[in-house]
Amino acid sequence: MVISRLIADARKIVFKFGSNTLAGDTGRINQELLEEFAGQAAVLIKKGKQIVIVSSGAQIAGLSIMGKWARKKDLHYRQALCAVGQVELMRAWRRAFEIHGQRIAQILLTRDDFGDSIRTLNMRNTLFTLVDEGIIPIINENDTVGVEEIKIGDNDTLAAQSAVLWSADLLILFSDIDGLYDKNPKEDPGAELVETVQDIAAVRKIVATGGMSSFGTGGIVTKLDAAERVVSYGIPMILAHGGRRGVLEALAAGTQRGTVFLVEKD
Ligand code: ADP
Repeated sequence: MVISRLIADARKIVFKFGSNTLAGDTGRINQELLEEFAGQAAVLIKKGKQIVIVSSGAQIAGLSIMGKWARKKDLHYRQALCAVGQVELMRAWRRAFEIHGQRIAQILLTRDDFGDSIRTLNMRNTLFTLVDEGIIPIINENDTVGVEEIKIGDNDTLAAQSAVLWSADLLILFSDIDGLYDKNPKEDPGAELVETVQDIAAVRKIVATGGMSSFGTGGIVTKLDAAERVVSYGIPMILAHGGRRGVLEALAAGTQRGTVFLVEKD
């Protein structure tokens, strides 16, 4: 029941969706999932909660239109693909939230933005303004400008940085697994879910972290890094499966399992 308590207590929640969660097995953005989530998020907002979303999926969305670029590995084609896909991704989110009367805004960030105090302050103020006005910011990395050396590289880190920047009360990472396991559950059917993590350093030593799903960029390691970052700022994190109907309600009701990374006072 720790998960339901954390969700009940949090006023400001950052949600992160991985590409595989958004696309499922189809290789296309799962519009139904987005709409369903938007409905649940709207309920939370009506209860007085504020939300920010960090969304991957630009590449997958791009491929659904520019399928012929699938084999092009050249950096500029990949960036072009993300530029095409980002528009589609935001269209999908906009349609999803529109149904529930919610407006969204796009924020594209790079690593440099977090290293510069003036930019950081601007980002923070913009986030606060949008949310105060009842608009849901949807954040992604600006892949068009980010070559490998200057990239944040994965949206787990971006989500953690955004949660810290916005002084969130809770970060929820949605992936295509129920949480952190002692072994990669995709490779080992006997893997067991770790439901509560107090000591991330200790967990790193005992958990096998190899492999990631087809469109994932970080795997489980960047999720542990994200947890470490937010927990050090007093923000707890939940890692859960985001691809099922009613996920938020199920987590809030304590009927869906996940992994909770607790801060000391919890
Ligand atoms: P996302 O796109 O949601 O960010 P990733 O594919 O980057 O997801 O990372 C999640 C994947 O990490 C899982 O699908 C799983 O295959 C892999 N993984 C490796 N080790 C573990 C582990 N110990 N527990 C959970 N998942 C693991």
